[in-house]
Amino acid sequence: MKSIIEERREIPVAGETDVLVVGGGLAGVAAAAAAARNGVSVTLLEKTIALGGLATLGHVCVYLPIDDGLGHRIYGGLAEELMQVCHRYSYDDIPECWKGSPWRVDEPTGRYQCTFNIPACVMALDEFTDAEGVNVMFDTGMCLPIMEGNTCRGVFVENKSGRSAYLAKMVVDATGDADVLFRAGADCETRKSIVSTWTYELDVDRIKNETTSNEVLANIRMRWFGLRPDVDNSKSEIPTFYGTTADGVNDYVHLSRTLALDYLKKHDRPGYAFLTMPAIPQFRMTRRLKGLKELQCVEGRYEEHSVGIVIHCLENPAAVYEFPYEAVIDARIENVAAAGRMVSAGGRGWEIMRCIPNCVFTGQVAGTAAAMAVRGGVPLQRVDVAALQQNLADTGVVIHAPEELKHNSQKERLSYRRASGVASIATDSLSYPKGDAAGH
Ligand SMILES: Cc1cc2nc3c(=O)[nH]c(=O)nc-3n(C[C@H](O)[C@H](O)[C@H](O)COP(=O)(O)OP(=O)(O)OC[C@H]3O[C@@H](n4cnc5c(N)ncnc54)[C@H](O)[C@@H]3O)c2cc1C
Repeated sequence: MKSIIEERREIPVAGETDVLVVGGGLAGVAAAAAAARNGVSVTLLEKTIALGGLATLGHVCVYLPIDDGLGHRIYGGLAEELMQVCHRYSYDDIPECWKGSPWRVDEPTGRYQCTFNIPACVMALDEFTDAEGVNVMFDTGMCLPIMEGNTCRGVFVENKSGRSAYLAKMVVDATGDADVLFRAGADCETRKSIVSTWTYELDVDRIKNETTSNEVLANIRMRWFGLRPDVDNSKSEIPTFYGTTADGVNDYVHLSRTLALDYLKKHDRPGYAFLTMPAIPQFRMTRRLKGLKELQCVEGRYEEHSVGIVIHCLENPAAVYEFPYEAVIDARIENVAAAGRMVSAGGRGWEIMRCIPNCVFTGQVAGTAAAMAVRGGVPLQRVDVAALQQNLADTGVVIHAPEELKHNSQKERLSYRRASGVASIATDSLSYPKGDAAGH
């Protein structure tokens, strides 16, 4: 590729903070709140103009279950608290039996989960981060970490004011794509993502004809274009994408919208109206950290440095795994922690850790560890794990799997289906781009 030398110039320092969180998805929000609650100053940089990431601008307004399907609440701490925040100003669809946050429900009437209204969630997240004392900078994209050996001194950013720098003692990479860690030289792994576009449409005809009810929600349905993750897509012509290069992201975005346009062209239905389009690409998995340790999805396995138990939120009953602290840190880089869908979890573990409750959980782990490292004046690799475990446990996180949950997957397996009304559109008459040949 042709190249050009960038001019050497002085860059203004726009801010200095104890903990800098890059990325304001739900993992970043959790990391920022956790760090602030542990007594350090926090700045959060978000390249779009709203918090929530895939959960809001990416249209994934489904907070998956935080119970195991057998009546046990698996998550406490911020993973439970942010669920309440997400639907604070939305319709209330959390089953009654889970109200009051019991640890055990004998006969659950439903899973402990919710859907939420996207604009209301965005505003609730603004309110939440303000109340936590987090300094949020919107429309500010991280370009490059500023490295001195194994230490990240902060990041260069671009926003309306031009290029500037934010300096920090600790950084949390919550970009979803491990952009900070990768550019800092951490060991990372990529994986291809299927193309799918989730959007919402309004059945205008039904509203016009409705004489007995004005329940608008009953007339909104989700419309799903592209591929589904739960079926064999190997024969599909729709390509998959790494999403870690400019061309890859561009092709993905073009294709995902072309699928929606093709649907509009084929279905002459003026009585339906799309309500909204995703404002960030709906990549499920792109790049992740290969940390000091990976989540091992082995039921019953004891992790001495477990910082909390996790489940595959789509399973019912869900097997329980212990998540090690070392899965959010790199072996070499001393002050950048990973949070969210890019933590270290190989194979099936990656699929598990991208579920929203797990992203929020690892956000809390990364933010708490970063604050403890600042206060202790130590690198992330030397954080006192016993103290971290105690800190998290004090907020309601379950650190080790209780005996009664150790073999959930061997108990009767029920099938868990997500909310109905999801329409998948076959799109077979388009010509498709190739997908990005390689990620990095
Ligand atoms: C189509 C689809 C369906 C899904 N369905 C479900 C579901 O039903 N339930 C569920 O629990 N999970 C689901 N998931 C997964 C889940 O939505 C995500 O894994 C989760 O929301 C990721 O949260 P995160 O905070 O780790 O990352 P993200 O939500 O990706 O947030 C990353 C944030 O970082 C920002 N950012 C990125 N780069 C920079 C930069 N350089 N500078 C500043 N900011 C930056 C982004 O703008 C974004 O706000 C789905 C995912 C997809 C794509």
